[in-house]
Amino acid sequence: MFPARMCRCASSRAGRLALLIVVLGLVAAGLVPRFTVSAAEARRNSCAQNVASINAQVERWHAITGAWPRTDLTDMGADASYFPQGIPTCPVDGTAYELDSGTRRVKGHIH
Ligand SMILES: [Zn+2]
Repeated sequence: MFPARMCRCASSRAGRLALLIVVLGLVAAGLVPRFTVSAAEARRNSCAQNVASINAQVERWHAITGAWPRTDLTDMGADASYFPQGIPTCPVDGTAYELDSGTRRVKGHIH
């Protein structure tokens, strides 16, 4: 009688543990895609911020010098008063930002 009772108790405990592991697995499986989506969204938002910041600095460059910076932004990148840590690169695809020669705005980067 006594051993049978212990056995039922142990198997019940093992069943609860298995159920807990399954539930935790389901929760983790649901959270992983959510984290990767939010990281991708953060990179897209960071790119949009970079584009806005570069466009603002291009306007500042034009107001100060009376000319537009080069489309590859190397002249602006060489002046630490604009981007002290260098002109950022796109956090989404890693490419350098370039200006459209007609609009004088950062081209592309519609993620
Ligand atoms: Zn980008």
